[in-house]
Amino acid sequence: MNEPQAVLDTLRARRFRITPQREMVVEALFSSEQHKTAEDVFALVQMRTTAVNIATIYRTLDMLVEQGIASRTDLGGQMIYTPREHGPHIHLVCHHCSVIVDADAGVLAALDAQLQREYNFRADLGHISLFGVCAGCQD
Ligand SMILES: [Zn+2]
Ligand SMILES: [Zn+2]
Repeated sequence: MNEPQAVLDTLRARRFRITPQREMVVEALFSSEQHKTAEDVFALVQMRTTAVNIATIYRTLDMLVEQGIASRTDLGGQMIYTPREHGPHIHLVCHHCSVIVDADAGVLAALDAQLQREYNFRADLGHISLFGVCAGCQD
């Protein structure tokens, strides 16, 4: 469901009204699997039209997250949005130097299994951030 057109079809099927602004937000977010802040999406949309404001960008991104089409992740004070298919991986974010290392989400498999077994809780672990101190900053 990575293609912008497939996302728009899904939204239409769920009876969302597709305004030109919403369409441009979807196209901007799904143009690549890169992380994007709301400001990044805003800048991409602004290359096509000035008839959009940042509040519309936020509202549309939040709607995509609520619909399970996009994911929102806290990268240490900065919220980033990605297509749902991005990942799975973990971001290891260093407090000191802000470096971000991508780690294999497989390291969470044991945690995931234990949470399900003991709490009957399905954690959303596909794209999360963990904060700590990187190898370089430990020296
Ligand atoms: Zn990521
Ligand atoms: Zn560091």
